[in-house]
Amino acid sequence: MDYFDYRPQKFYLLSREKRRLFSFVSEDRSVENAVENAFAKLPRIEGGNIYALYRFSPLVLEVMAELSEKLKVHVCNIQQLPSYFKGFRDNDVFIRHNASVDIIDIRRSLIKIKAIENNRNENADDNCFVLTWGILYQKYETYSYGLLTEKIYIGEKDPEARICRFCENTGKNYFKNESHAIMESLGNKLLLCNEECDECNTLFEEKGVENNLYRFLEINRTLSRIPGKKTRNHSLEGLNFCIRPDKDLSMPVVFIKQDKIINDVYNGAPTGRVLLFNKGEVSYYGIFKALVKIAVDMIPSCKFSHFVNTGKWVHGDMADMEFPPFLYGEHNEFFEQPVLDLFFKTNNSPSFSPFCTAILYIYDAIFIYAIPFCNVDENIYTSKESILNHWNYFKKRQYLYVGEWAEIDSNDKTLKSPFYKLPLFSDTQKYKIEFKPSDDDVFKRPKNKE
Ligand SMILES: [Zn+2]
Repeated sequence: MDYFDYRPQKFYLLSREKRRLFSFVSEDRSVENAVENAFAKLPRIEGGNIYALYRFSPLVLEVMAELSEKLKVHVCNIQQLPSYFKGFRDNDVFIRHNASVDIIDIRRSLIKIKAIENNRNENADDNCFVLTWGILYQKYETYSYGLLTEKIYIGEKDPEARICRFCENTGKNYFKNESHAIMESLGNKLLLCNEECDECNTLFEEKGVENNLYRFLEINRTLSRIPGKKTRNHSLEGLNFCIRPDKDLSMPVVFIKQDKIINDVYNGAPTGRVLLFNKGEVSYYGIFKALVKIAVDMIPSCKFSHFVNTGKWVHGDMADMEFPPFLYGEHNEFFEQPVLDLFFKTNNSPSFSPFCTAILYIYDAIFIYAIPFCNVDENIYTSKESILNHWNYFKKRQYLYVGEWAEIDSNDKTLKSPFYKLPLFSDTQKYKIEFKPSDDDVFKRPKNKE
């Protein structure tokens, strides 16, 4: 079909919580018509057939239930529409996009939804996004994963033809399980790699490199009540604190050992946060390797030939080089499902850019890092100085507000207790804080531990 079709077979529905692709196809186009007519009955705030912004009201459920009732005998997936709107509250905003929309417009729409629901100036937020992330998008070949609520599989579909990106195992016997690019227990449900073999999957996860990132984020994860692979237990034993679920409050309680309070200080002044120290030890080098592993999994197949040595290094088959630092910061958004952006250098990019830069958004944390051992970079990025301009360029183009950026030494292998800076006065109502003496019973390990 050459002409523009105003009855799309595929479209996205985006709301704050749910971002889904829908597909309704019929030979005589009667289903597409019925769906289109249903949406036409809803009052729009703005837009038309390609893009439209709506506010939720009981009418939406009525119209979708009616549509589903009418078509359910012939179109088995039509019930996805009424069920999509379950849990919506009056005045929640949602946007419908034709499926041909670009990822930058999806991101802009999500920002718009949030701004409207928070009574913020949506144009100001949009402007900020276009002038920051939007510039990166223009200057680099950009891939963005994890924003839509559907699974993404990178790499060869046929298990027999797969070659592991890390150890080069090949053949379907090595690829029986799904490999998550980011551990499921950190909240990743959507980002998967076809080319990480079962052996590597076990090697990285059990006691391997991924554990560094897990431990580093574990306090944040527990406070945010991210469900584990098999459990929903949100207890955590730290060195100077513990976290217990509170059934009545339906939020976690952080018990802090009052004789072991360590206040966070920045430039000599207290920040209003206390430091919580987790058990276990991690190194910045280990965290960096875990971050690189995620990127190796998600590099599109067409680019992977440049990163063969990167995979080998993650697997332990390449000696270390001198690595440039990576950036870490915290912002005021929350990503329960991690989002990974990959930016590849083009002719249009600043000359100081490494070939591939990754941004990982997870919970309220943001990591920015360059992918090492890339055969295009020719050992240019081996020090802090070599990447300074690039990091400044990227810091300035973040649409989320990051108060303090930490430049973290990726070469540092010393083991440290992971810590989290807990705000004492938080308006998010995510958790409750109580102070108790160290010998209080609450700090004794409960029997049914995760
Ligand atoms: Zn492997």
